[in-house]
Amino acid sequence: MRILFYDTKKYDKESFDKILPKYEGIEIEYVEADISERTAKYSKGFDAVCAFVSSDLSKKVIEVLAENNIKLILMRCSGFNNIDLKACEKHGITILRVPGYSPEAVAEHAMALALACNRHIHKAYIKVRENNFSLVGLKGFNFHQKTAGIIGTGKIGAAMCRICRGFGMRVIAYDIYQNPELDFVEYVELDKLLEESDLISLHCPLTDDSYHIINSKSIKKMKDNVVLVNTSRGALIDTVDLIKGIRDHKFQSVGLDVYEEETENVFENREDDILETSVTSRLLSFPNVIITSHQAFLTEEALDAICYTTMENAKAYMKGDIIENNIVK
Ligand code: NAD
Repeated sequence: MRILFYDTKKYDKESFDKILPKYEGIEIEYVEADISERTAKYSKGFDAVCAFVSSDLSKKVIEVLAENNIKLILMRCSGFNNIDLKACEKHGITILRVPGYSPEAVAEHAMALALACNRHIHKAYIKVRENNFSLVGLKGFNFHQKTAGIIGTGKIGAAMCRICRGFGMRVIAYDIYQNPELDFVEYVELDKLLEESDLISLHCPLTDDSYHIINSKSIKKMKDNVVLVNTSRGALIDTVDLIKGIRDHKFQSVGLDVYEEETENVFENREDDILETSVTSRLLSFPNVIITSHQAFLTEEALDAICYTTMENAKAYMKGDIIENNIVK
């Protein structure tokens, strides 16, 4: 099987090259360009393409892949909201993904953001480098004996609950299903979670129900001086409402690994003075906001797990022995 690997980063190539010799009959050609209407044509002569959560796998791109006789898309990620599934089905293209790799990688990053923004580590780092050892503006609060509110308690949310418990926090959660492994967590309605939490961390997927779950109404219900962290998907938060909340001094601090503008301008049809500039740059203008660039998954362990499952998916497809749970339908 010949795989064309789009959007190659140095760390991708290193992890895949490390285990490739174990997979007889599989060859990978790496390209830096991501897949798009323009670059999909390079898939001619390959059997499969490997893409990522940010790749363009829209209808037109799938049509080009189909013309080039591509029968398999290997997603080296768990998300697939960027794929036109109908077009894939029409052209008989199988999509295989990595449903879970290292929940702890994402949860640890969520706690890193929570701690960094609560204790102003980003400001302290810059100040001290400039020889300014003043403590003014650096006061945080203890997480110990405070309440952590976790929205979504699947694999990553559960890991975050355990981390928060380790900090001596009371852990409450909201989910449409309760996780039976979390006997130390008190499940509550969303409103109660918003009202009682000192730290709120989002770990549910982006669906029609969870779209803008954090908006002006939910922000109003939160405690003053709450810390808000989002490592899930940008559109769980209405960014314009968040900016208004920050301007109204609702938040002690905010840590975001994901944001609505990540892939496209989603604000085209909205009118607000906030939208005169990019909302992400507006967010970055607040000293109590930290943004990282969708890197929560990026640990050695997670990359190894992603790489292993992607290669196993390719091998299983060749053998006609696909793992049902890894198929995207
Ligand atoms: P999961 O499927 O194991 O858990 C998701 C949980 O959310 C489930 O318990 C589900 O019942 C719950 N849920 C669904 N809809 C909900 C709603 N409307 N309100 C409350 N809870 C709801 O998923 P996971 O592996 O824990 O991943 C969670 C999310 O993390 C993913 O959807 C993805 O968006 C994000 N993620 C981010 C990164 C990153 O690098 N930043 C990496 C991987 C995943």
